[in-house]
Amino acid sequence: METIAPFIEVIDEINEAGGEIYKLCFQCGLCDVVCPWNRVRNFSMRKIIREAAFGLSEIDGEDIWRCTTCGSCPSQCPRGVKQIDVSVALRRLASEYEVFPAAVKPARTARASLISEGNPLQYDRAKRADWAQGLAVKTYEEGMEALYFVGCYFSYDPRMRKVATATVDILERAGVNFGILGQKENCCGESIRKTGSEKVFRSLAKENIKTFIDKGVKTILVSSPHCYHTFKNEYPEFMVNFEILHMSEFILDLIREGRLELKGDYDKVVTYHDPCYLGRHNDIYDAPRDLLNSVSKLNLIEMADSAKKSLCCGGGGGRIWMDTPQAERFSDMRLKQAQAVGAQVLATACPYCITNFEESRLNLEFEDILEVKDITEIVSEMLT
Ligand code: SF4
Ligand code: SF4
Repeated sequence: METIAPFIEVIDEINEAGGEIYKLCFQCGLCDVVCPWNRVRNFSMRKIIREAAFGLSEIDGEDIWRCTTCGSCPSQCPRGVKQIDVSVALRRLASEYEVFPAAVKPARTARASLISEGNPLQYDRAKRADWAQGLAVKTYEEGMEALYFVGCYFSYDPRMRKVATATVDILERAGVNFGILGQKENCCGESIRKTGSEKVFRSLAKENIKTFIDKGVKTILVSSPHCYHTFKNEYPEFMVNFEILHMSEFILDLIREGRLELKGDYDKVVTYHDPCYLGRHNDIYDAPRDLLNSVSKLNLIEMADSAKKSLCCGGGGGRIWMDTPQAERFSDMRLKQAQAVGAQVLATACPYCITNFEESRLNLEFEDILEVKDITEIVSEMLT
């Protein structure tokens, strides 16, 4: 076992990195009871907190990288311990010393790509808006109704580009005057921050904020709950405030205001998975369900661990870039939960969830029994 530095120095470094709240912990272990890791392997956030309190943290092991920042244990802790802050503080130390276990190394590659290209996926910045070729998407100009901040996965990933296209279809049919930033858009930085790369986060955030201000942006529409979270709750650290709307809220408003009319029936059994960063972190549970319920004949049913108890897909906290053995994937469990209630469609509203679910769908050979859809894809299907 390698520890980072003797005692008090470690404690000071963790305090400085933002994790001092661990001092409140009285080791009740409730965090371990609710943590999804303990459904697939032994993992103890309680132990991580205890080691941090004594300055005995191991930074060369994988455990400090496991937390998906799902938000379950902070919402349950009787002492208000901010477990995610402790994890991020330890990751900041590990990043500073460049200590990355093998399974975590892809996150370092993502960091390099963010620094050079503004996205974690190793694609060219110059190709950021290629997904919109052939679509009537404008570049954002001051005075437009809203900026559509597309996000990295929707811009580059072939599966997620379908969601961006569906979103544009909806916005255009509702007559929304919107634009995108194209190459001027950078990753929002939410997930790289949770891996401890604070400087990279701050650089991405500052560049985005400068672009928003230069372009006179007031309202920002996002498809990713991770963009939503950081714009709404973290960018205000830079003394700015923009109106941030998740696409589920905005599209629901379009329907309620009569700007968007859905046609036909969606005669399928659908279950909705609450992304951690939309639900637990931002309390948006109703809008996606109301949106799905506005679709004729769509039969929305709840699966186990829904809403506040939603089972994490495994992709938050930068885990989307790390290697997880198949037997330890939360997304496999989630698909089985959807199947157990007889769902034909697993709907959600997050690029990490969809990426993980699509992979599980292949691995579990569920292709013929369960579709994975973003809610905008379902709405888009109901427009013709
Ligand atoms: S739930 Fe809170 S008080 Fe209990 S062990 Fe976890 S961090 Fe400590
Ligand atoms: S935030 Fe979620 S993944 Fe992280 S330790 Fe708590 S329960 Fe586990």
